[in-house]
Amino acid sequence: MKIHEYQAKEILRQYAIPTPRGKVCFSVEEAVAAATEIGGALWVVKAQIHAGGRGKGGGVKVARSLNEVHEHAGEILGMKLVTHQTGAAGQMVRCLLIEEGMHIVREFYVAFVVDRSKQRVVLIASSEGGMEIEQVAAKSPNKIHKVWIDPVAGLTDAEADGVAKKIGLVGVHGALERNRGFFCLQSLYRAFVEKDATLAEINPLVLTGDGRVIALDAKFSFDSNALYRHPEIVAYRDLSEEDPNEIEASKFDLSYIALDGNIGCLVNGAGLAMATMDIIKLYGGAPANFLDVGGGASKEKVAEAFKLMLKNPKLRAILVNIFGGIMRCDVIAEGVVAAVRETHLNVPLIVRLEGTNVDLGKKILAESGLAIIAANDMADAAKKVVAAARGKQ
Ligand code: GDP
Ligand code: MN
Repeated sequence: MKIHEYQAKEILRQYAIPTPRGKVCFSVEEAVAAATEIGGALWVVKAQIHAGGRGKGGGVKVARSLNEVHEHAGEILGMKLVTHQTGAAGQMVRCLLIEEGMHIVREFYVAFVVDRSKQRVVLIASSEGGMEIEQVAAKSPNKIHKVWIDPVAGLTDAEADGVAKKIGLVGVHGALERNRGFFCLQSLYRAFVEKDATLAEINPLVLTGDGRVIALDAKFSFDSNALYRHPEIVAYRDLSEEDPNEIEASKFDLSYIALDGNIGCLVNGAGLAMATMDIIKLYGGAPANFLDVGGGASKEKVAEAFKLMLKNPKLRAILVNIFGGIMRCDVIAEGVVAAVRETHLNVPLIVRLEGTNVDLGKKILAESGLAIIAANDMADAAKKVVAAARGKQ
């Protein structure tokens, strides 16, 4: 689950990591009032959307007068902000963060993320923070420092100090900034662990002209499987930032991810669902979605899954690929037949069943009188669905 920058900064403050003073606003008038309240002569107007790269897309603007705050807020609110993380359609800006502007001397990058291959949390840090961090990683990987953290020891003093030194988190006051940077690293790690985050990123963490170390931008993602123990994080959820179909799916406990292709996939088990998408690709097709109905899907759940897939205007064919372990093939077959009738399915449907009660399942499909194409194995199913999707185009 993702949250907004202003929410991420609330978490940072709980961990005593310095952030600029700011206020979240939903109208131009509120934005100007917030800037007036914050005071000073420099402000930043920031679009709040669940995607990075806002600066480059025109969603972060510095204002040097209240008039400019008014102007920028008016431009950014309601815009369809397109960044490298939003896709071409962009994301509508409904909310702004108005902050005091900072005089930046240096921008650093610090983040904690799960490294699955190493089975550890990794601290990633760079002296070259800011909007070009992806370029830095691609062109000068030597400027990206990583520390894989021992889960028992945590981020040790020596490690935190070493990283702060390597990225040059030192300034006019010498060791002082290093201590402040060191404190930010350890606090951010604590927040990452205690909140069950999968990502905690500060980019940029800045050194200001007066020697302060401040988090100018913040981003968190959380492990959905751990949300049950974080009601305070769940309260941050902003449904307007999420795909409506994925929200619908989560209500029925279906794991659904929309993709770009035209072949709908209904599968039980995430591993089989991945393999199904792979084999569709292998035979030259493209999946329209990832959809795992889980191990114990009911008839109703299968019907909901069909409705979700059919909402996609690009859909040209559907592949149902079920391995009946706990799940019985006859239950799935009944669910499929009911769903096809209920939704008046008008795209070709290929079904591959294997496992418990498979013969009964196949019989139910064959006797339904519906135009369901049976497949013998995964390769056969993939070939048939790719051909069917082409035929419809
Ligand atoms: P992102 O593009 O979505 O990552 O948005 P950021 O919050 O990181 O803002 C992008 C860039 O705007 C930062 O890297 C800074 O260079 C600049 N910026 C943000 N806040 C301030 C500020 O208070 N003062 C100045 N001078 N620049 C800022
Ligand atoms: Mn940023």
